[in-house]
Amino acid sequence: MTDYPDLQLFIDNRWRRTTESLPVLNPATEEEIGRLPVAGQAELEDALDAAERGFRIWSRTAPRIRAQIILKAASLLRERGPMIAPSITMENGKPLGQAAMEVVRGAEFFEWDAGEAQRLYGHVVPSAPGIRYTVLREPAGIVAGFAPWNFPLSQPARKIAGALASGCSIILKAAEETPAGAIHIARAFQDAGLPAGVLNLVFGNPAEISSYLIPQDRIRVVAFTGSTAVGIHLTEMAARAMTPVLMELGGHAPVIVCDDVDPVVAGRMSAARKARNSGQVCTSPTRFFVMEKNFDAFAKAFAERAAAVRMGNGLDPSTEMGPVANHRRIAALDALVEDAIAKGARVLAGGARPNGPGYFFPVTVLADVPGDARVMREEPFGPLAILNPVRDIDEAITCANALPFGLAAYGFTHSAANVDRLTAGIEAGNLSINTLEASVAEVPFGGVKFSGHGREGGAEGLHHYTVVKTISHKMELDPEPTVSGAKP
Ligand code: NAD
Repeated sequence: MTDYPDLQLFIDNRWRRTTESLPVLNPATEEEIGRLPVAGQAELEDALDAAERGFRIWSRTAPRIRAQIILKAASLLRERGPMIAPSITMENGKPLGQAAMEVVRGAEFFEWDAGEAQRLYGHVVPSAPGIRYTVLREPAGIVAGFAPWNFPLSQPARKIAGALASGCSIILKAAEETPAGAIHIARAFQDAGLPAGVLNLVFGNPAEISSYLIPQDRIRVVAFTGSTAVGIHLTEMAARAMTPVLMELGGHAPVIVCDDVDPVVAGRMSAARKARNSGQVCTSPTRFFVMEKNFDAFAKAFAERAAAVRMGNGLDPSTEMGPVANHRRIAALDALVEDAIAKGARVLAGGARPNGPGYFFPVTVLADVPGDARVMREEPFGPLAILNPVRDIDEAITCANALPFGLAAYGFTHSAANVDRLTAGIEAGNLSINTLEASVAEVPFGGVKFSGHGREGGAEGLHHYTVVKTISHKMELDPEPTVSGAKP
C-alpha cells in the first residue's frame, strides 16, 4: 500500500502539528500531496530541551545497546521499504526502483555506523614509568543536522546514523520539499525503542531554523549537506559559536576517459549513471575529459544511451528517470544550456523540455563546451553532461582540477600507471576507477576545497561527532614539587 505519511514534527518522542504549514508537491504532476507543519521558536526550544535530556541518557547508554536499537530501526526500514519507496517517489520524483534502493542504502548507513559505535576506541600512549596518558573519544553533545532533498531518506540517515552511533542526540532539519523519508526514519526509531529526545525532527524556514539553532551553546556539532553557498554561511555562523562543522557541499565531478578502455562501454555506462536521480547527486559525473582517439566513439555511445533514457512519472515501473525535484532546477538547467550553446557548445542529445505538467528535463549532452561557458564552472545539479576532448592524461588532470570543487572524480583506464597518476594528481576526496559509484557505507566520503570538509561513513565517519579527551594519570603524588616541574 502506498503510504504518503501524515507530515508532522517529531520532538521528544511525540508527533506534533503547528498552526502554520507548507505544501509538499509531487514534481511529476505539480500536485499537492501533503502539508508540512512549520516549527517556530517554541518548537525549536522544546527540541533543544528534549535533545539535552536525550543526550544525558544516550551518551551513557552502552555502545552495544545503542547498536542494537540502531540495527532494529534499520531492519524496520528494510522491512517497510516497499511501503516507503512510493512516498519518496511521490515527493522527489525518482523512479520506484531507485527509491527502493535508497531505503536499502539508508539501512546500510545505519548498519555500518552501528558496528562502528562499538569500535570508537581510545588509546593509551606509552610514556615514562608512573604516568599514564589515556586518550578517549566522547560523544560531542547535541548535533544540529541539515539534510537536503535529493536523497530524502539516505541523506537524513547519514546524519542520524553518525550522531546516534557516537552517542550524540540530534535535531535534524530535513528538506521541506521531501519530508517523508526522514519521517519514516523517525517512525522506525520510535518503534525500535529509542529513548525520548535522542532524535528530533523539525521542518520550517531553513534560514530561521539554522540561525536559531547554530548559535546556541547547547549545539556542539553542525552537520550540513547542500550547496557550497549555504555551507559557507552556516560555517560562518558556527565559527562565531566556535562550533565544529561537518560540511558535505557541492561538486562538479570530472571523469577522465583514457584511450585504453572500450569507449562504447564507458560511454553507455556514463550516460546511464548521469540519469541516476536525474543528475541531482553531488557526485554525479558531469565533466567528461575524453582522450582524442576515443572521443567520437565515446560521445556517440553516450548520446545514444542518453537519448534512449525513458523519462516519466517514477511510479510507472518502466521509467528510468523521473523529473527533477523542483522548479528551481529547471530554471537553472535552462539557463546553463542556453549560455553554453550561445558560447559555441554542440548539443548531442536532449536540450528541449517536454510540455505539460511536471519538472521534466531530458538527459542533455553538450560537446566541445568552451571554458568560459557557465556550466564549466557551475554545478548543474541535473541531467546535464559536458564532453570535451583532451590530448593526454596531464591535460585531463589539469582540467579536472581547474575548479574550486573536489568531491568525487572518476577515471576509466586499465593501466596501473594511469591509475597511479590519477591518484597522485586528482584533487578530490573520492576517486573511483572504472566505476561511477563514489559513496558506500564502509568507506569515508567527503570533499576537499569548496566541496567541504569532514567525512561521513567508514571508520572516520563518527570522529566528527566525538570530542577527544586526554587523561594524564600520575600514579603517585610528587612529595618534592619544584615550580618548573623539573627535578633538581
Ligand atoms: P539552496 O542552496 O537554496 O539549498 C541547498 C540546501 O540547503 C537545501 O536543502 C535547503 O533546504 C538548505 N538551505 C538553504 N538555505 C539554508 C539555510 N539558511 N539554513 C539551513 N539550510 C538551508 O539550493 P537548492 O535549490 O535547494 O539546491 C540547489 C543546489 O544545492 C545545487 O546546485 C547543489 O549544489 C546543492 N545541493 C547539494 C546537495 C548535495 O548532496 N551536496 C544536495 C542538494 C542540493
